[in-house]
Amino acid sequence: MILKSKLCLLFLVLFGGMAFSQQHFDIILKNGKIIDGAGNPWFYGDVGIIKDRIVKIGDLTNNKADKIIDVTGLIVAPGFIDVHTHIEGDEKTTPTADNFIHDGVTTVITGNCGTSNVDIRRYFNFLDSLKLSVNVGTLIGHNDVRRAVLGEAAVTPNAAQLKKMTDLVEQAMRDGAMGFSTGLIYTPGIYSKTDEVVALAKAAAKYKGIYTSHMRNESDKIMEAITEAIDIGRQARMPVEISHFKVGQPNWGRSNEMIAMVENARKEGLDVTVDQYPYTASSTTLTVLLPDWLQAGGRDSLLKRLDNPAIHKKVVTEMINDMKRRKRDHFDYAVVAHCDGDSALNGKNIEQINILKGRPSTIPNEIETILDIVKTGSTSMVFHGMSDADVENILKYPLTMIISDSGIRQFGVGVPHPRGYGSNARVLAYYVREKKLITLQDAIRKMTSLPAQKFKIAGRGLLEPGMYADIVVFDPNTVKDEATFERPHAYSTGFKYVLVNGAITVDNFKHTGARKGVILHGPGYIKNQ
Ligand SMILES: [Zn+2]
Repeated sequence: MILKSKLCLLFLVLFGGMAFSQQHFDIILKNGKIIDGAGNPWFYGDVGIIKDRIVKIGDLTNNKADKIIDVTGLIVAPGFIDVHTHIEGDEKTTPTADNFIHDGVTTVITGNCGTSNVDIRRYFNFLDSLKLSVNVGTLIGHNDVRRAVLGEAAVTPNAAQLKKMTDLVEQAMRDGAMGFSTGLIYTPGIYSKTDEVVALAKAAAKYKGIYTSHMRNESDKIMEAITEAIDIGRQARMPVEISHFKVGQPNWGRSNEMIAMVENARKEGLDVTVDQYPYTASSTTLTVLLPDWLQAGGRDSLLKRLDNPAIHKKVVTEMINDMKRRKRDHFDYAVVAHCDGDSALNGKNIEQINILKGRPSTIPNEIETILDIVKTGSTSMVFHGMSDADVENILKYPLTMIISDSGIRQFGVGVPHPRGYGSNARVLAYYVREKKLITLQDAIRKMTSLPAQKFKIAGRGLLEPGMYADIVVFDPNTVKDEATFERPHAYSTGFKYVLVNGAITVDNFKHTGARKGVILHGPGYIKNQ
C-alpha cells in the first residue's frame, strides 16, 4: 500500500514535471546568446513568449511553440528604449516607424526639448486610433505650455499666467506625461528665467515626473547651463536628465569637467543622468544662430525687425562677436539640411552658399547669407560642432544612455541628420565592435535597462520572465548603421528579428507591417477623470 502510494506520488511528480516542461508557447527564440540588459554578459538560452510577455528563459528543448525561430549565434536583447525623440507630426505618415524599428528601437519617448502636444490625453487617443509599431511615452514641453498662455512674447509671466501654465503641466501629468521638458535655446522658452522653469518642474514633480533639459547653452556657456539644469532638479526635488549631452567650441576638451559636475550632483543625492546621440554633428534650426531678442513675438516680428537697417546692423555685429567667442572663421560647419524656401540649398554649407551668391568668404558676408536664408522660410541645419574625444568620453560615462533625437523619418524626404536611422547600430558597430570603447553588454544596458529605470518604464528594458516581449535579435559581427551625412536615408542593417509586445515586427530583416506598440503612461496618470 505504502509502495503503491509512493509510486503514485512518483508518477504525479513525473507527469506534473513533464506537463510543466511541455508548456506551449506562441514563440520560442531558440539557442540565442542572451544579453539581459542589466549589463551582464551573454549566456546561451531560449526565450519562450506567450501573447505580449516573456514567460520563460532557459532550456526549452522539450517545449512546443506555434513558431520556433532558430537564432543560433545571434544576440537576443531587450528592445531598445530611445528616451529622446520628436515624433510629433510624423505619426500618421509613417506609423510603422521604420527608421526606429530597423535600428532596434521598440519604445520612444517624445515631447522633448520643450516641444510637445499640450493636451496629452487627446494626443494619446490619437496615437491609440492610429496604432504605431513602437511603444510611445511623452513629456510635456515647456515651450508649448508657455506659448499656450503667453504666445511668443519675450516676457516674464505674472502670478496668474504662471498659475495657468502650472495647471497645464499638472493636467498633462494626470493625462499620463512622464515628466517636463525644456528647450531653453528655442523661443519662447528662451525668454524664461530659472524661477519659471522651477515652478513648472515642481508641477511635474508633484506627480513623480522627471525633468529633461535641452540646456540654455551647449558651447561657450556650457558650465553655467549644466549648473542651472542641476539646480532646477535640486529646487524641484526631482530626477534630472540632461538631453543630448555635448559640447561645442570653445569648450572642446572639457567633457570630463562636465561629467564631474553630474557626478558631484549625484554625490549630493540628486538623481542626474545624461543621454547622447553618438555623432560629432548636431542638428537643429537655423534661427539658433540669431540673437534671442530678434525672435521675440515670432517669425513675422523677426522679419519686420530685419527690414530696419539699424537693427539689421546690430544683428550682424552681435553674430560677428558670437563667432569670435566660438573661435570660428567661417560657417562651413553649418550645413543646410532642409530649406523650406529653396530646396537647392539642401546639403550645402553656409560658406559654400555664400560663395555661390558671388560674395567673398568673410564672416559678415556669410552672416548676410544666413539672414537671406532666414527670410526664405524655416530651415533645419546640421552643425558639425563636436570633437571625437568629447563624444567618446561622454559615451564611456556609465550613466549615459543612447538616443536618436529624431522623429519618424519619411524615407527619402529632406537631408536629415543620420542619427534618426542609425544611432544604436552605430554604437554597436563603430564604438563597440570597431573601436572597442565599451563592451557589448554595456552598450545594450545604455539602450535598455538604464533608460527604463530612469523614466520609470515598468515591465521593459530587461529580458526576464514576466517582462513585455520587446526583443531584438542581431548579429554583433555585422550589425551596422548605413545612414551617413551624405546619404542620410538608409536603414541600419543587421537586426534580423524585432518583437514589439510579442508581435514579430521585423522578420528576417524585413518590417512585417505589425503595429503593436502601446501607450506608456507616466507615474501620475489617472485613468478616468
Ligand atoms: Zn534638443
